[in-house]
Amino acid sequence: MKRGDSRLVRPGKIRLDASTACQLACPSCPTANGATGQSLGVGFLRFRDFKKIIDDHPWVSAIELANWGEIFLNPELTEMMRYAHTRSVALYASTGANLNRVDPSVLEALVKYRLRSLTCSIDGACQETYSLYRVKGDFRQVIENVKAINRFKAQVRSSYPRLKWQFILFDHNAREIDAARGMAEQLGMAFAVKLSWEDLYTTPFSPVTDSRLIRQRTGLGVVTREEFRDKFGRDYFRENQCAKMWVSPQVNYDGRVLGCCVNFWDDYGNAFQEGLENSLNSEKIDYARQMLLGKKESRADIPCTRCKIYQRMKETGAWMAEEEIRKEPAKSRALVSLENRMLAHGATSRILDLWSDVKHASAGDDALQQAAPTYTTGLISEFRRRKMPRLESRVHPLSLPLGSDDEKGWKPYPQFKGVARRIRHLSCHVSVLNQDHTPHPPHRHKEEEILMLLSGEVEITLPDQPSSDGTCARRLNPGDFVYYPAYFGHTLTCVGDQAANYLMFKWHDEEKRCNDELPFGHFSVRDFLRDERVRQGFVPRKVFEGPTRCLQRLQCHTSTLTPGAGYPPHRDPYDVAILVLEGEVETLGRRVGPHDLIFYAVGEPHGMVNPGEVTAKYVVFEFQGRPNHFVDGLLVATADAFRKVRDPQRWRGLLDKLG
Ligand code: SF4
Repeated sequence: MKRGDSRLVRPGKIRLDASTACQLACPSCPTANGATGQSLGVGFLRFRDFKKIIDDHPWVSAIELANWGEIFLNPELTEMMRYAHTRSVALYASTGANLNRVDPSVLEALVKYRLRSLTCSIDGACQETYSLYRVKGDFRQVIENVKAINRFKAQVRSSYPRLKWQFILFDHNAREIDAARGMAEQLGMAFAVKLSWEDLYTTPFSPVTDSRLIRQRTGLGVVTREEFRDKFGRDYFRENQCAKMWVSPQVNYDGRVLGCCVNFWDDYGNAFQEGLENSLNSEKIDYARQMLLGKKESRADIPCTRCKIYQRMKETGAWMAEEEIRKEPAKSRALVSLENRMLAHGATSRILDLWSDVKHASAGDDALQQAAPTYTTGLISEFRRRKMPRLESRVHPLSLPLGSDDEKGWKPYPQFKGVARRIRHLSCHVSVLNQDHTPHPPHRHKEEEILMLLSGEVEITLPDQPSSDGTCARRLNPGDFVYYPAYFGHTLTCVGDQAANYLMFKWHDEEKRCNDELPFGHFSVRDFLRDERVRQGFVPRKVFEGPTRCLQRLQCHTSTLTPGAGYPPHRDPYDVAILVLEGEVETLGRRVGPHDLIFYAVGEPHGMVNPGEVTAKYVVFEFQGRPNHFVDGLLVATADAFRKVRDPQRWRGLLDKLG
């Protein structure tokens, strides 16, 4: 495959297995039962090979080190971390480590050389439960090691490595999910429940029986991989596994390219012998990728042919879709270097100390006091946001029903997307979801959302909000809408006999926690639409109001406007989106009817009048970002200064004079 070929794979992130050896004896693990050892060998990534990959491939800026074995058994791990740090390559151990046997100097090196993330597999909340699966594991030692990492992090005020407690779900440990979640919180670790491998490699170990309890506790909405397949029409974590063939291919410790983290049956070439780029684009691996997309027949020499995930794809015809091959946005080495240097421990301390002096000197100035920890991330966001369009007041006409996409089952119609004056990112789209289709398994993200159903019928799945029957499901009818806080798990399925149309607002800004944050909410305008009692003029009625993690205030109200009534032009200190439900209004020089959307940007003048014969009814969402004049001013000034320095036009005159 040549440069420029659209199929050429040259990912910024790769997976280099630091170890295929492990000291534990987990019952259903192919490493413990010797299956991986037979085909992949039992060994460690050598520093010289690691160094050569980094030296010869400047486009590689991120490496995941964990897969089949325990990375902490690799005797050259510290040397690799040190070298990656000096060459501005970000390292991860997100796939999982058991963290049982680690030298304190290695724990310190994780912090010193800024390993980006470390996932610890801890499937229990006490030694007895933990060791039923993690045979030979020492629960107390693992927790002590986590505490030691936290101490090193605290000493240098670093947030790396970000720690995650991964809890593999079995029947024997289901009752300890809550206790483990609580311990993870105390240790400053993210917490995630994962379904076990079941029969992917061997016979299932400790399969779940009390499914009601597990549904309620896990927040997954399902308890087995089979149930996941039935509900979402694809294999659990499929996109996290097969997509690695494109976005972060797996390489064994001895250089053999395995493609994904499941395959241990055969390889696609050797990156250390043939070169990384060549082996990632060999005829064999390219053929495998085409097989996964359903474009080529299965072939006996391709490892996927032996994989149950591929076999199910073949049975059902549910092939990988191009959108599933999401690029993992690996930062460039320049960005990793900037991050390392700007946030290197000494520098971080100095910056934070400097800021604390400033804060002392300016006691009482809230904006200044909040500025220190957010400045660097804010600056990066400011550069990003400046590339996005600034939102302006406009009418977005919408005529329902919208056309569907029968192949994909889901079709979005973007309405607006950009930066508002006080919100870093605000967007709106209307989507059409085909019957029985679910756009994605339950997911969580930093953005907050409002979803309003315009037509059809959907069932939303809320892993964080278990219902009394444990299904985590709720039915929505037209006129119902929900508010999803940031990081709140959710998905939806069209359950009516026709496609569903829904409206989605999505936004994000700097996050700030407060005690009275709005929780998940389920609301409806159906009663409002049925209500015949209408008072003359303009009458608003509040639905909800409160602060969120990203907004100073999110408010929703419904309004009625009788014929001829209205209000004169004025300016609001927040962004406003209005969905007309009934009747007509006139605003921004246009007549606006049912399902049309109006957006008023903060500070822009707008008025409204009802020019029709019937009462207009509409629902209003007010997005009030946080005013933070000091930080905003500082960010804008710095971003402007950088842009001016980088602008060749500004330098040309000076260079001409010098020349
Ligand atoms: S189908 Fe192929 S790429 Fe997907 S998980 Fe199985 S072996 Fe990996």
